[in-house]
Amino acid sequence: MPGAATLLRDVFGFDAFRPGQEDIVTAVARGENVLAIMPTGGGKSLCFQLPALLRDGVTVVISPLIALMRDQVRALREAGVEAGALTSGNTEEETAAVWDALEGGRLKLLYIAPERLAAGSAMGMLRRIGVSLIAVDEAHCVSQWGHDFRPDYLRIGELRRALDVPLAAFTATADAETQAEIIEKLFDGQTPQTFLHGFDRPNIHLAFTPKESPRRQIMDFAAARKGQSGIVYCGSRAKTEGLAKALCDSGHNACHYHGGMEAEDRRAVEARFNSEDGLIVVATVAFGMGVDKPDIRWVAHADLPKSIEAYYQEIGRAGRDGAPAETLTLFGPDDIRLRRSQIDEGLAPPERRMADHGRLNALLGLAEALECRRTTLLGYFGEQATPCGHCDLCDTPPETFDGTQPVRKALSAILRTEERFGAGHLIDILTGNATDKVRERGHDTLPTFGVGRDLERRTWQGVFRQMMGHDLVRPDPERHGALRMTEAARPILRDEQPITLRRDTLVSKTRRPAAKA
Ligand code: ADP
Ligand code: ZN
Repeated sequence: MPGAATLLRDVFGFDAFRPGQEDIVTAVARGENVLAIMPTGGGKSLCFQLPALLRDGVTVVISPLIALMRDQVRALREAGVEAGALTSGNTEEETAAVWDALEGGRLKLLYIAPERLAAGSAMGMLRRIGVSLIAVDEAHCVSQWGHDFRPDYLRIGELRRALDVPLAAFTATADAETQAEIIEKLFDGQTPQTFLHGFDRPNIHLAFTPKESPRRQIMDFAAARKGQSGIVYCGSRAKTEGLAKALCDSGHNACHYHGGMEAEDRRAVEARFNSEDGLIVVATVAFGMGVDKPDIRWVAHADLPKSIEAYYQEIGRAGRDGAPAETLTLFGPDDIRLRRSQIDEGLAPPERRMADHGRLNALLGLAEALECRRTTLLGYFGEQATPCGHCDLCDTPPETFDGTQPVRKALSAILRTEERFGAGHLIDILTGNATDKVRERGHDTLPTFGVGRDLERRTWQGVFRQMMGHDLVRPDPERHGALRMTEAARPILRDEQPITLRRDTLVSKTRRPAAKA
């Protein structure tokens, strides 16, 4: 759907669709009747808000909760979308403004409380304003047997018939009876296009590994899968070229792909990848839209993706045929620093930056997870799962240790040096390494000097990375590399809350037994 990806980014500020969203958006924008069942928190509102922008005319949104409607309207307006609500909670000015925008033909989304539909005038008004789509949030409220039954929802079917426009219904309730009732009451028994996806892709093996020497780690991963089609995602254009060359030099069929290439060259790579067997494409995230290949056997991330959504979308390109596929994501403190600074230096308004940090935190939480990755990943998208037996942490549960004392020592080193230094210098202080820089600044006289001699430098690096991953410390956007403590670290510093860390010092090889070549 042209334009959808651009709107997703520019209006909603998201870098990738969540599982299921893209297909739903496409169907709704095309004007099909849709029933979409997604878990709570899965991102349903985007599935009608984005199509509303792609379609002419007004999208009417019916939603049972006034507070929720007002929230959505506020967020849309902040993003520059003309949206309004007609609810009993409105002030007169608000209602007048909505009418103004409607009369002026500017309004794109009109939220209406279901009880409004009971008033005869509403129907006439909706007929006049050029409605092109009805979206029904919490569609299970139409079910008389459910506990959320709203009698006014029964009028929605009537509204659809009167306006004769497509209807998209959304709910998190998946049982068959409720579905049948929704179809009966909202769609007059005509089965709409129905989306009920679990988000799980059980054939995809999930794995993360701390970055050590990324090129070698990716080369090892690829070597164990020689002759299979795969994608390596890199954080920069230059890196794609270097890595593709290294792969070719060691006998792989590989090429690079990034947004800086001529359109013609990019299309050529896409065509080759789709038709050839066993090609490796080393790419930036620009690679993906034109890719339609069911038998991609592996996806590796040489650098940490932007968010948990981007991660899911990128690994999701593997194994569409349902046959086993493998993934590996490398991550390290530099990635975290880079992703944080991209957010901080971006032009997005403060709330959006906060949300971006949150989505990055979710990915870091997944990277540093101590138990089943799939459970963590699906949990983020609102889906429950049991340990999968098909991720690196299920294969080999990580050794953990009580990290409370080392973390407290590290935090205290950060505070005693006034949050002005990066991990390298802090580790020098902790391990009692009296470098010139340490001595010049008198840090060899701090009480924290040498208190961390019991751990190796390498372990300390892991501790700092995990502290960043748990969002206990963040790089200071004003001071390159310097780490600042976050609020989340306070209870640990005060010894009110323990923290468990992974003892991943032995990371020099990918943890999984290599697949057959
Ligand atoms: P639901 O209605 O399904 O419970 P929402 O529409 O309220 O879920 O979305 C839940 C959260 O997910 C919101 O904070 C929203 O901003 C976020 N979200 C939705 N789509 C995306 C996406 N593609 N990328 C990142 N975050 C998203
Ligand atoms: Zn698992």
